[in-house]
Amino acid sequence: MNLLEISGLGFAYPDGTVALRDVALSIERGEKVAVVGPNGAGKSTLLQLIAGFRMPFTGRVIVSGKELKESSSDEIRRDLGLLFQDPDDQIFMPTVEEDVAFGPRNLDMDDIEERVLRGLRSAGIEKLAKRQPHKLSYGMKKRVAIAGVMAMDPKVLLLDEPTSGLDPRSRMELIKLLKGMDRTMLIATHDLEAAAEIVDRAIVLNESVVMEGTLRDLVMAKDVVESAGLELPPISRLFKVLDAMGYPIDSLPVSMDQAVAELTMVMDRNGKHVHAHIHEHDHIREKAKAEHAHETR
Ligand code: ADP
Repeated sequence: MNLLEISGLGFAYPDGTVALRDVALSIERGEKVAVVGPNGAGKSTLLQLIAGFRMPFTGRVIVSGKELKESSSDEIRRDLGLLFQDPDDQIFMPTVEEDVAFGPRNLDMDDIEERVLRGLRSAGIEKLAKRQPHKLSYGMKKRVAIAGVMAMDPKVLLLDEPTSGLDPRSRMELIKLLKGMDRTMLIATHDLEAAAEIVDRAIVLNESVVMEGTLRDLVMAKDVVESAGLELPPISRLFKVLDAMGYPIDSLPVSMDQAVAELTMVMDRNGKHVHAHIHEHDHIREKAKAEHAHETR
């Protein structure tokens, strides 16, 4: 049975703006799925709707066999954790631990202390428990918000643009964190490269689902990329240029790991066995020694 099953989902705002039309989507337990699409495609609305924040809608949202209805949204909300795009919309208590405790307390959950500890641990911020969240960096605020959501131990984690607004280092750290989390996830994002690191598959949304597949399938679908206004990651663009120059590639890599795998494969095809290592070292000499690729025939 799928953990999340959505069919015929439609939603219009009170002013008549149609945000979603006949959306169908299923996610298996443990699966990580990205929702990509242009601004205004309905990504945030979809996540808010699944989290039970927006009613009424047409169609069905079924979580763990339970249908989301106006009458049942509180019960289902326990199973769904939504990370807002802007952590400042989600954080408002004077200390980090109080903030992380807010959700479980609000839903009358047991073992608050244990939940707070688990939430802080899963976001890697145990040391920040006593700090004032509004004084933390943007990246750390995102983690506080993640801890708050994880303290409720949701079956599905819904993340709205989790990497937006982060500096490169915090972005990389967040990607690592989400990649390592053993949790069913639906991630709305513009960041295809981050998505390629984290998710198993992606859907392209533009009011309804335009395409479904791996990130690599998606970046190869030229018409979808154009019509959905998606920006290809620099590494994919580089391989597009190589492709145009006659370099033999089967599909465009979306992340650095995929690019290295692709290059290694092409070198292998040429009859050579290749090892490529990239290590970070503190001083330049070591770095020069460590960043190399050697070949053996
Ligand atoms: P995305 O997250 O993909 O950028 P949204 O879900 O925010 O898309 O928006 C989907 C559509 O709904 C857009 O046309 C947007 O202008 C509209 N919309 C979003 N929020 C509101 C609102 N509160 N009232 C009216 N229309 C809205």
